[in-house]
Amino acid sequence: MKFIGAHVSAAGGVEQAVLRAYELEATAFALFTKNQRQWRAAPLSTATIDAFRSACEKYGYSSGQILPHDSFLINLGHPQEEPLEKSRKAFIDELQRCEQLGLSLLNFHPGSHLSQIDEDACLQRIAESVNIALDKTTGVTAVIENTAGQGSNLGYRFEHLAAIIDRVEDKSRVGVCIDTCHAFAGGYDLRTEADCEATFAEFDRIVGFQYLRGMHLNDAKSAYASRVDRHHSLGEGNIGKTVFSWLMKDSRFDHIPLILETINPDIWKDEIAWLKSQQLASEGTPIL
Ligand SMILES: [Zn+2]
Ligand SMILES: [Zn+2]
Repeated sequence: MKFIGAHVSAAGGVEQAVLRAYELEATAFALFTKNQRQWRAAPLSTATIDAFRSACEKYGYSSGQILPHDSFLINLGHPQEEPLEKSRKAFIDELQRCEQLGLSLLNFHPGSHLSQIDEDACLQRIAESVNIALDKTTGVTAVIENTAGQGSNLGYRFEHLAAIIDRVEDKSRVGVCIDTCHAFAGGYDLRTEADCEATFAEFDRIVGFQYLRGMHLNDAKSAYASRVDRHHSLGEGNIGKTVFSWLMKDSRFDHIPLILETINPDIWKDEIAWLKSQQLASEGTPIL
């Protein structure tokens, strides 16, 4: 069983995101639980929490089908103490919002060294940030997203993800989300089925499928190994459709949110329907 959806808008309240996902005939969705470009947000009201929880129940989304994303401002590997503290506080707040909404996952970008500390020191800070946040919360798994490696962003090598996990104390509450555009731009080819097999064999060897908690399904405007993060609609970019069809037929990607962050929301419904159709085996029987 595949959970397939898109990162939908939460404009008008987080409960509106649930309805938007349902309208796309999605079986998964992602959302921001606060404005992703601002540090501050009003606490979630009891009315909002109730509305979100009852919408999820009404439209049939369990916490395993929902992959909230944290704010873009947070840098858990910040080289300077004050901004690091600010990021850690904001990350704890994000986890607490998830707890309140009954959500079990929080997707985040690992962090950036800003050319002020070396990669390993930055990875160490990120892991420490995760440890602090997990210690102050319960029930929510911190899901590290691989990045394209733009600027000084870490997380573009599977080894970075593994190094963070290795230093997280509670391994039951840490996981990863693999973004296909980011992987491709970071130097992991996905253009042919053989490339997909090789890339995910490498992923399994370095990180391990037991840590896979979600996927972002994006084609890439950016070139292979360019370290540039530019998404495209499925089949329109430099990766092509093969990987997405391949993923749909592989049971290692079952029961985790598979989320579109493609550039044209007007065709998300079609993209979701196409992804669903790819689950069918060649003889026409659905693979459950
Ligand atoms: Zn992503
Ligand atoms: Zn991206």
